[in-house]
Amino acid sequence: MTSQQIRQQFLDFFKEKGHLIVPSAPIVLKDDPTLMFSNSGMTQFKDYFLGYKEPKSPRIADTQKCLRVSGKHNDLDDVGRDTYHHTMFEMLGNWSFGDYFKKEAIDYAWELLTEVYKIPKENLYVTIFEGDSSENLDRDNDAYNFWKAHISEDRIINGNKKDNFWEMGESGPCGPCSEIHIDIRTAEEKAKVSGLDLVNNDHPQVVEVWNLVFMEFNRKADGSLEKLPSKHVDTGMGFERLCMALQGKTSNYDTDVFTPLIAKVEELSGKKYTGILEDEKDIAIRVLVDHIRAVSFAIADGQLPSNGGAGYVIRRILRRAISYSYRFLGIKEPFLFELVAVLRNEMGDFFPELVKQQKLVTEVIKEEETSFLKTIEHGLKRIDLIINETISKNEKTLPGAAVFELYDTYGFPADLSRIIAEEKQLTVDEKGFDEEMEKQKQRSKKSSAQKVYDWVVLEEKAETFVGYDQIETETYITRYRKVE
Ligand code: ATP
Ligand code: MG
Ligand code: MG
Ligand code: MG
Repeated sequence: MTSQQIRQQFLDFFKEKGHLIVPSAPIVLKDDPTLMFSNSGMTQFKDYFLGYKEPKSPRIADTQKCLRVSGKHNDLDDVGRDTYHHTMFEMLGNWSFGDYFKKEAIDYAWELLTEVYKIPKENLYVTIFEGDSSENLDRDNDAYNFWKAHISEDRIINGNKKDNFWEMGESGPCGPCSEIHIDIRTAEEKAKVSGLDLVNNDHPQVVEVWNLVFMEFNRKADGSLEKLPSKHVDTGMGFERLCMALQGKTSNYDTDVFTPLIAKVEELSGKKYTGILEDEKDIAIRVLVDHIRAVSFAIADGQLPSNGGAGYVIRRILRRAISYSYRFLGIKEPFLFELVAVLRNEMGDFFPELVKQQKLVTEVIKEEETSFLKTIEHGLKRIDLIINETISKNEKTLPGAAVFELYDTYGFPADLSRIIAEEKQLTVDEKGFDEEMEKQKQRSKKSSAQKVYDWVVLEEKAETFVGYDQIETETYITRYRKVE
């Protein structure tokens, strides 16, 4: 089954169950002071949960473009290092706004996974919220009982607040949740360790695929919980992980979501992707094909790289990709921009913004690559110098302030400094680094952002969005210019 078919089957299934299918909201949030990017499917529905707005239908389903690179949900450091966390990913979701609740949510999920996708039942585990006395929250016995109808009790596992009480951010709608994990290991591996032991260890081959959240509370800014006006269901299934399981792969990067991009990187770099977890070249390739998606979707949704706010996050993601390809693939010319066409071919049918904005996305990435490549050489020389100084002093830790300077002045990603240090059996003084970061935050609060260069939008074309009433218009950037 191709990824496109897998996505479509999800939507068709929920359509048949009376859900209205809506398009993904933009990945960039323009009017939410608590969040920069959509970090889950529910972000666009927040106001429905809070009772501020009426949903168009009490049952909705979609796939949402998500980005987890800042705030409460930040997976950036794992990306490339593991096989199943991305910066940008699709979250398939079904919602009930004051309509069905736990029983139906659990029954639907089970039916879809075992009857439509035909995942063997013996490969599934579920978790439920064990309760938390400090917040007066009970164990989710209802979820436990509804699961019991489908799965043996030893496969229903208690989970703590960290994993089984879902919160969008520091504040906002939240509630207990129940997660579904798929064991994709071979029979031989299963015989060695029980899947049960691996569920809560973030094991890459017993992977969390779907989270069913039972929205009952709102976390207020003062940290307290209040009951929502009604009860809702909010589910999120990792699309790329589902594809991995259904396509019989052991890494998201081996699914057809990523293989065309990887093939293009191989062609452009002359390097072969071997899928090894610790291999620097393979890490770099995973980073590139992941980050190009994040950056392309963000730009297509109107978020240009810049020196502040969400634009700065996007610029840093792009620079992380450039640094990895420079250092580990030896690519010293702009080339990431060439992946945009591949992405458009693969995903443009479902996400037309990639087609409409292809030119803008390509040009912006190429220009960003060109200018960052001019400074990266300095950054690499500088870290070599810092490493040599550290070694000559017989020390094992790179000073946090020096690594921060690299990050701040050269835009050199801190995790890359860590990797380079590790190659020489050195570590980074993380505490010192964090202190410098904090000082910088205080400084930039005082002075306005330093001027390097930014993109200015000269003309935006707003188009009426036909799909869904909450997003009234979508804006396409048609003319833009770089300012030094
Ligand atoms: P994990 O524990 O693996 O980090 P999570 O519990 O943080 O996942 P949720 O907030 O429950 O994730 O999101 C719902 C689903 O989205 C997850 O079950 C998973 O399948 C998928 N997902 C979450 N984070 C990522 C990511 N960074 N990349 C790809 N898929 C993800
Ligand atoms: Mg996570
Ligand atoms: Mg989890
Ligand atoms: Mg989860």
